[in-house]
Amino acid sequence: MSASDPNAQSASDTLDPGAQDYDLGALSGAARAPVPKRPALLDLDRDAVAAFLGDEPRFRTDQVWTAVNEKGQQPGQMSAIPLKLRSRLEEEFPPALTPVTEQRSGDGRTTKWLFELNGGAQVETVLMRYRERATVCVSSQAGCAMACSFCATGQAGFERHLTVAEILEQVHRARTAAEPQRLSNIVFMGMGEPLANLERLFTSIDRITTEIGIGSRKITVSTVGLVPAMERFAEANGQVGLAVSLHAANDELRSELVPLNRRYPIADLMNACQMIRAKTGRRVSFEWAMISGVNDQPGDAKDLIRLARKADAHVNLIPLNDTPGYPTTGSSPQQVKAFAKLLREGGVNVTIRSTMGDDIDAACGQLANRGEQAK
Ligand code: SAH
Repeated sequence: MSASDPNAQSASDTLDPGAQDYDLGALSGAARAPVPKRPALLDLDRDAVAAFLGDEPRFRTDQVWTAVNEKGQQPGQMSAIPLKLRSRLEEEFPPALTPVTEQRSGDGRTTKWLFELNGGAQVETVLMRYRERATVCVSSQAGCAMACSFCATGQAGFERHLTVAEILEQVHRARTAAEPQRLSNIVFMGMGEPLANLERLFTSIDRITTEIGIGSRKITVSTVGLVPAMERFAEANGQVGLAVSLHAANDELRSELVPLNRRYPIADLMNACQMIRAKTGRRVSFEWAMISGVNDQPGDAKDLIRLARKADAHVNLIPLNDTPGYPTTGSSPQQVKAFAKLLREGGVNVTIRSTMGDDIDAACGQLANRGEQAK
C-alpha cells in the first residue's frame, strides 16, 4: 500500500492519521477488520481519475468524475462512456459497498441497509423520509471504540474506519432510494465516532457539498465529545452542524455512560462548545438519551439547563432505545415531555427526536450488524 493510498490504514492507525496529537490509547483497540486492498472510484480525487484515464481524451476526466461523484453511478451505468473504458473501470475499481439486506419499517418511512465492505466488515445506513425532507443517517466507522454503555454499536467494539468511498457510497445509495424525494439532509449519527475518522470525514463532507450539492448547513456530525477534534472541526467546517452526545450533566454519571468523559470531562467539553459557538456562530446541539430514573429527574434538568445556557446550545431529547447490552429502559413519553417542559421553562430551546424505524432496529443506538438475525 502506498503512502498516498486513500484507504491506507494499519493496525497502528486505529484513529485518524492526522490525529496523532490526541491518542485515545486504551479506548481504541487496533483495527480488527481488514481494509480494502484497492481504492474504489469514490476514493479518487480528480487528479487520480485523470491519471488513471491517461491517454483518453481530456473531457473523459470530467465525464467520469461527474458520473461517479455527482450522479453516484457505477461503471455499468455510465452510458455515455465507451464500453471498453467502462469495463476497465469495472475491473480496476470494486464497488465500496455490497448490500446484504434492505429492510423497510412497517410505516414505510424508514429503510435500513446492511452493507458489506471490502474485507468483510459490515455497516448499517438508515434513510428516513419525512414529509418535508429526507435524511440519511450515515456510518463513519465499522463498529466503534467509544464503548458508550447504552449504545449497541459501542457494545460491539471497534472494527475499522470507513474509507471516503464507503462513506460517500452510503449517501449516493440513499439518495437514489429516496427518489423522487430529494435527499436533503445528512447526519453522521450511524455507526462509529465520526471525529475519530477526521480526515476522511472532512474529505467526504467536502465532496458532499461540492459534488452532491447538499449544503453544509444540512449536514450534522454527532460526536461523543472528542475535544481536540472538535477544535479542528470548527476550523475546517464552520457551517456544518455539530451535535454533542452529552447525556449527563455531571462527570460521575457521564463517565459511566460515555467512558470518553474520563479523558475529556464536562468542563473541557463545555469550553469546546463555547469556542465553536463563538467561532462559527452556529449553535451546538446537545443530545440527551432519556434513561428512566438515570438522567430524567428534575435535578438532571436543572443541571442540564445550566450547561445548555452556558453553551447557548439547543437540546435534543432522544427516548432511549432498547439494546441487548443495557438493562435500563427509556423514559416514558410522559416523562420525556415533562423533562422537555422543565428545560423550556429554564429558557432552553428543546426538541424531542421522533423515533423512527425501531421496529427494524434502525433507531438511534441500535445499529449493530445483526444482519440476518434482524427482525
Ligand atoms: N459516535 C457519535 C455518533 C453516534 S450515534 C456520538 O456518540 O455522538 C448518535 C446518537 O445516538 C448519539 O447521541 C448516541 O449517544 C445516541 N444513542 C446511542 N445509543 C442510543 C440508544 N440506545 N438510544 C438512544 N440514543 C442512543
